[in-house]
Amino acid sequence: SSGLVWLRRDLRVTDHAALYHALKHCQKVHVVFVFDTAILDKLPRADRRVEFIRDSLVQVDERLRALAGHPQAGLIVRHGVAQDKIAKLAHHLQVQAVFANHDDEPQALARDIQVRGHLADHGIVLHTFKDHVIFERNEVLTQVGKPFAVFTPYKNAWLKKITPFDLKAYPVEKYAQHLAPRPDDLAQPVPALQDIDFENTNLHALKIPPGESGGQTLLQDFLTRIDHYEDTRNFPAVKGPSYLSVHLRFGTVSIRQLAREAHARLLAGSPGAAVWLSELIWRDFYVQVLHNFSHVGRGQSFKPEYDSIKWEHGTHAHKLFDAWCQARTGYPLVDAAMRQLNQTGYMHNRLRMVVASFLVKDLGIDWRWGERYFAEHLNDFDLSANNGGWQWASSSGCDAQPYFRIFNPISQSEKFDPEGKFIRRYVPELAALPTAALHAPWLAKPMELQTAEVVIGKTYPAPIVEHADAREKTLARYVVVKKKA
Ligand code: FAD
Repeated sequence: SSGLVWLRRDLRVTDHAALYHALKHCQKVHVVFVFDTAILDKLPRADRRVEFIRDSLVQVDERLRALAGHPQAGLIVRHGVAQDKIAKLAHHLQVQAVFANHDDEPQALARDIQVRGHLADHGIVLHTFKDHVIFERNEVLTQVGKPFAVFTPYKNAWLKKITPFDLKAYPVEKYAQHLAPRPDDLAQPVPALQDIDFENTNLHALKIPPGESGGQTLLQDFLTRIDHYEDTRNFPAVKGPSYLSVHLRFGTVSIRQLAREAHARLLAGSPGAAVWLSELIWRDFYVQVLHNFSHVGRGQSFKPEYDSIKWEHGTHAHKLFDAWCQARTGYPLVDAAMRQLNQTGYMHNRLRMVVASFLVKDLGIDWRWGERYFAEHLNDFDLSANNGGWQWASSSGCDAQPYFRIFNPISQSEKFDPEGKFIRRYVPELAALPTAALHAPWLAKPMELQTAEVVIGKTYPAPIVEHADAREKTLARYVVVKKKA
């Protein structure tokens, strides 16, 4: 029999669930990726993620050939609406089954229902598998069989459930001889970005390494630092985290490999590895939240009472929001963080919390606006984690920050960028200020400002809100929640 593996958010050939199952069960296996115009048409013409995908596919293509051991193997790439392309291709190749890995985002689920239907018209079956998380859907439940809405008990149940089998790699290489040669009419190389109507970005200049090789390079580097993760992870100027999020998003690294490395070190007593594994468990947690509480994926608060909050609106709100997006809030740590996002597509986790809290609780803007902006700009944008993060910051989510806990952007800055290194990197117009004045430059002494050639309101914006004021307004705004709770 023959099969077609459809890659989506799993752009690797190592330890790949769908590829493994296809190779095990079919004598002839083809592999395809579709540049789906239903997704791509909504994006700006220069998008780092599209370039990351494209460059990662080049590696998939090479690796498939190497794995098969013959030059006629390789990746088939299509460009168009996935629903049509997959059914047509599967029919053309005369396969009996299509194999893919689960994607539980609402749009992906809707797409897969359609694909399943189109394939069924030709008598072809769609098989799907868990691949991009350790536990999914209803695999980790409370003792009474309900999904978890609080992280710590979820994590404890996750850790209790884990066995070596859950962390084991799928030995794709075992059946690699079943990789089929590509038919001549489908044997083109992976298209250049321009061929799919996209432009190059600064991905290469940023040295974000794509593909499986990039994931492995970052992982090996991180493993030399993992033991110190819990001490370093909160300081954006320090190389503390793994920077693997974009690889997890596009599946250029296997979650099983990462969890295996972390779990082994946890058992060996590494506190850093234990904390990092927790972060991977947060990722699983939010994926199951999206699956089990699907209203969060439809723009609703996890806690419905939070949807009666009245956010700022009209031109005033748009002005505040634009200042946040364009890094002109007058709060240096917030502006530095937004510049990091705008210039690189990455933002440090501590800063995601700081800027999200600032948008919602200092500017009074609906968290969905921030969620959308992140979705457009983050290289690692993932609906489940992004929604989880925003609902955490706005207090509307499961296991979220209580609404009355409001980050102070100045003390966050003093605590997590104590030497001002991160601020100086992204807000060089303030670099010459003494460190103590860097976190709230409008409070600096006139002499300090003069020496550093900083003119508040001119060379750097005045703060757009006063934090203490904003805090009071937010507490008043959230009263509706208190009344309903
Ligand atoms: P590391 O610290 O090395 O962590 C390792 C991995 O654990 C990450 O790659 C990620 O997959 C996972 N992880 C870490 N923290 C979280 C978390 N809080 N929730 C879920 N998974 C986590 N992460 C995304 O992958 N995509 C998003 O769109 C996203 N949006 C966010 C929005 C907000 C408002 C907040 C507060 C957080 C968001 N996060 C998101 C979570 C987190 O900030 C990033 O995963 C992390 O900064 C990525 O950097 P890293 O790979 O170096 O992380």
